[in-house]
Amino acid sequence: MKNKSYYQDRKLTVFRELVKSLWTDGSAKNIKKIEEELINRGLFEEKERNIIRDYIKLAAGQGLENKDESVEEAVNHAMHNKDIEFPLVTVVKDVCDLCDHSAGSEPCKASCSHGALIYNKERGVEIEKDKCLTCGNCVKACPHEALSDKVEFVPIIDMLKQQEVPVYAAIAPAYVGQFGDNVNPGQIRSALKMMGFKDMIEVALFADLLTLREVFEFEHLVHTKEDYLITSCCCPIWMNMILKGYPELLENFSPAVSPMIAAGRVLKEVYKGCKVVFIGPCIAKKNEAKDKDLKDAIDYVLTYREMDEIFKALDLDLSKLPDEQYEQSSLGGRIYARTGGVSKAVAISLERIGHQGIELNAIQVDGVMDCKAMLDKLKNGIVEANFIEGMGCKGGCVGGPRTNIEVQKATDFVNQYE
Ligand code: SF4
Ligand code: SF4
Repeated sequence: MKNKSYYQDRKLTVFRELVKSLWTDGSAKNIKKIEEELINRGLFEEKERNIIRDYIKLAAGQGLENKDESVEEAVNHAMHNKDIEFPLVTVVKDVCDLCDHSAGSEPCKASCSHGALIYNKERGVEIEKDKCLTCGNCVKACPHEALSDKVEFVPIIDMLKQQEVPVYAAIAPAYVGQFGDNVNPGQIRSALKMMGFKDMIEVALFADLLTLREVFEFEHLVHTKEDYLITSCCCPIWMNMILKGYPELLENFSPAVSPMIAAGRVLKEVYKGCKVVFIGPCIAKKNEAKDKDLKDAIDYVLTYREMDEIFKALDLDLSKLPDEQYEQSSLGGRIYARTGGVSKAVAISLERIGHQGIELNAIQVDGVMDCKAMLDKLKNGIVEANFIEGMGCKGGCVGGPRTNIEVQKATDFVNQYE
């Protein structure tokens, strides 16, 4: 019986083949060959040609709505019109034929706690884009890889090869250990530079700076036992849940931007005209980067999983590359990657500045359901702490839907990386 990792691998193979073809040719002229090659290799059946075409379109960041658009047209569009198309999470409907519909227990049905995914017997899966938080829960739940987020690598290829503007890779704190047990951060920097990135910048550096902002907000807002601060921290799912569903809590919500946005803005101020590509564990960051008030900061978002496949497609063996490491951040910034990290970083900084006011009493929740339960309590006036940290994924960013290693291992890597 074929399991999720089989279907995941065949979708990722399509992405790798697309990357190889575009990196080598610089154009979509050989895209058709991918389809033939994958059928000849037995990875897809003859009747699954539409699935390959849809996977290629999603891998190029394009939508599936325009059925008349050929794969070449879609890829060319992605190469020249640099924007990913919304909605970010999409269903490849032909893949749903692989599901056993007789019992009516399709695994995607119960995966969305925001009412954004609707399953209808006649129309199949539909996603309401205004309700979707791009949390990735449905993507994880589907055993056949029918649900997928779009990828933003195609428009970056040209920029990396042409070298007309410097392109910086801003890498999220959870990155340690994501590209192999024997691959250290300096080797990841080497690989990115070989691809044409100007440098790799740790977003944890900006988490360090934002910890000071959270400390300031805490001192400013929390003076009595009734006061509390909801940290905006780094999680766009948590932020969106509050913005969309709990507007009455906004007066207690820290106005700080995420470390990703701060990184993009600072880099663009220091290196005028540069482009910034964020690399992280999260689908929702693709959404955050395109927010109308924040889109000045980050040009493109790639996930660790996509990056790993790109390294493989380009035959980059990171374990054999030179170690170009230099320190950019502290432990406080790096542990933003796991649940409780923001609270710990704020506690350390309050102690360092000799905070005299009310004592920090932090509480953390993770996973969409627990975040929702906490926000419901706050809405009903039940306040159990004065610093509330929420992360949409279990374990925090290390448990994001687009990581390469399991949560506990990633948490250990982050905690040990000093
Ligand atoms: S999205 Fe996945 S789980 Fe849902 S019906 Fe399609 S194949 Fe089945
Ligand atoms: S990505 Fe999350 S919010 Fe969007 S449809 Fe899937 S489960 Fe629902």
